[in-house]
Amino acid sequence: MVGLQRLAFVAAGVTVAATAGGDHWDAWSLALLAVFTVTSDLMYVETDSNKLKVSGSFLGLILAAVLLGGGPASLIGVLTIAIGWVRSREAKHYFRNNVVTYAWFPLAAALFFHLAVHLAHVGPRQPGYYLLVFAAFVVALTINFVMIAGYQCYLDGGPLVQKAREALRPILASELFSALLTVAAVYVAVTHGTVGLALVGLVLVVFQYLVSALLLSERRSEALQRMATTDVLTGLANRERFASRIDERIAARDQPGDEFAVMLIDLDHFKEINDTLGHLYGDALLRELGPRLADLVGSGGLVARLGGDEFAVLPPTRAHDTEWLEITAVELLGCIQQPLVVDELSLTVGASIGISRFPVDGADAQTLLRRADIAMYAAKSSQSGFKFYAAEQDVYSRRRLGMLGDFQRALAAEEIVVHYQPIVDVEEVQVCGAEALVRWQHPELGLLAPGAFLQLIEQTPMIGPLTRHVIDRALEQCARWRAAGHELAVSVNLSVRNLVDPNLPDEIERMLATHSLPAAALHLEITEGMIMSDPDRAVATLTSLSALGIRLSIDDFGTGYSSLANLTRMPVSELKIDRSFVTSMLADESDLIIVRSTINLGHDLGLEVVAEGVEDGYTLARLGNLGCDRVQGYHISRPLAPEAFAAWLASTEAAADTLLEKRA
Ligand code: C2E
Ligand code: CA
Ligand code: CA
Repeated sequence: MVGLQRLAFVAAGVTVAATAGGDHWDAWSLALLAVFTVTSDLMYVETDSNKLKVSGSFLGLILAAVLLGGGPASLIGVLTIAIGWVRSREAKHYFRNNVVTYAWFPLAAALFFHLAVHLAHVGPRQPGYYLLVFAAFVVALTINFVMIAGYQCYLDGGPLVQKAREALRPILASELFSALLTVAAVYVAVTHGTVGLALVGLVLVVFQYLVSALLLSERRSEALQRMATTDVLTGLANRERFASRIDERIAARDQPGDEFAVMLIDLDHFKEINDTLGHLYGDALLRELGPRLADLVGSGGLVARLGGDEFAVLPPTRAHDTEWLEITAVELLGCIQQPLVVDELSLTVGASIGISRFPVDGADAQTLLRRADIAMYAAKSSQSGFKFYAAEQDVYSRRRLGMLGDFQRALAAEEIVVHYQPIVDVEEVQVCGAEALVRWQHPELGLLAPGAFLQLIEQTPMIGPLTRHVIDRALEQCARWRAAGHELAVSVNLSVRNLVDPNLPDEIERMLATHSLPAAALHLEITEGMIMSDPDRAVATLTSLSALGIRLSIDDFGTGYSSLANLTRMPVSELKIDRSFVTSMLADESDLIIVRSTINLGHDLGLEVVAEGVEDGYTLARLGNLGCDRVQGYHISRPLAPEAFAAWLASTEAAADTLLEKRA
């Protein structure tokens, strides 16, 4: 091939020499055209879509061919390639091929043009002349393409016609435009001489600059567009891009039967990693996970991060195949569960996946995403890994959401109230405190006990505001009792989530100060199970609460997994025996044994013991004999609204022996 290239180059030289008689070696014009062509070539703009180069060098070469002849045009062609190599640095063999091509096509165009003009007897004042300029341009373009595409075919095989067509199609329009420009440029140059030529050059350089600026700004806006649809942390698509891809899929489906699925993934326990190890670890985990999921899904599908620890997957195809979707879901779960090493720490997370399908589950992106979300919640609460959307889940979720939204409103509307149940000191036979129990004064459903709503609230962050509300109300009441001469303490129940809330101790301290109460006026009740889930953090919170001087009670003692080891680790001062043992202790021997040994155990550990659920005088008397410190139950009083509680307090004080009489 190298030999052939050399031969072609020498042949070009010989042809130039042979036809030199017709050439017009005008130094000024030659320099002007050379400078224009070379600069224009160096300044080419590449469009990223099809590697198309926009430059005026072709135009310059045809101008040279028409105005100066084959020799000068060929010279400028070779010069352009030689200098252009400084920018492109292409491989030597490409360079050789380009030199030959750029030596030949301007030369051939010039020979064609001057021969045609000669044969047709036309001059610059006749339209036929410009038609021939156009024809020369086409001849040059054809030779250029055949030589470039032909060489490419020689390199990687394949039919020449197809290669040439592939290369030509995207630039045909701009080349035709370029040909017309050449015709105009020739006209100006011929009628206005060198000055005209300079003018044409100037106009073209400005034109090329404009094109490049336009392309650049288009590219910038593409980059901005990319940024706006990309999740910065993981580099995955974001919610907007994901939704618009779904809409595209819907719009592009071929037949009405086309189906596809949307999968929504939510990590389990991600919040714990974030909270305990810090955001850096959480971020690192998400960053690692993104590419993993994208790899698994492959290029035909799309993986997006919707926000937080939520990802979405649009699998490539085959949504009608439930089995295939199940396999995909299992694979995704497996991929997520692979341990991730972050800073030498191995982290493992699980996930839940919800799947919705087009068109059965929804006809647009929003609906499909919302239903995948509902299915994901169903998967999470049943701990089944993944679930397909089903209409029943929707009803559940609507009730759930309705209730949650309603509760937020209720909290603001003062519908969340607190009732108080007295706690009595057995030995001194007097009221020593009360337990604060939350109620929802519902506008339609009436007074709701915690059993109707609390479990739901406890699963959401709303338990934080609820607990603060109850504590604040309870302290306010306690301050009133004290102002009325009753030295009572108030007990408030905490939830699991409250124990991992690092701000709680400080806020309680502030609330105590607001109501001018000593810390001893507040008791907080927790259950053993609450400590089990995250003992270290729970103990930390409890330690700071106890350091404030607040007394802590273990509620519902005897149920759930008791762990004496935890019990001794914690700064508690009181055990509350669960009412299930107390209520039946006179009827059931084993319950009595439990109550008795709990009282002894508590005392051995230096704790006070409270019995709740005391429903009759015999039980109260028996508890007194067993050495129980305090009691609480319907026998003394049901939980009462604040005014009723105040009235009850006043009446028991007026008849000092009512409490004594309660002991059967
Ligand atoms: P708990 O902490 O065991 O509260 C005592 C529950 O036993 C109260 O039910 C009370 O009405 C009931 N009770 C009191 N004496 C007797 C009795 O003699 N016999 C029987 N059978 N029951 C009696 P309530 O008010 O329905 O509260 C249920 C649970 O809801 C509470 O159980 C507590 O775990 C939770 N809870 C109540 N208020 C709050 C609160 O403000 N925050 C949190 N986190 N939980 C609360
Ligand atoms: Ca309690
Ligand atoms: Ca209890």
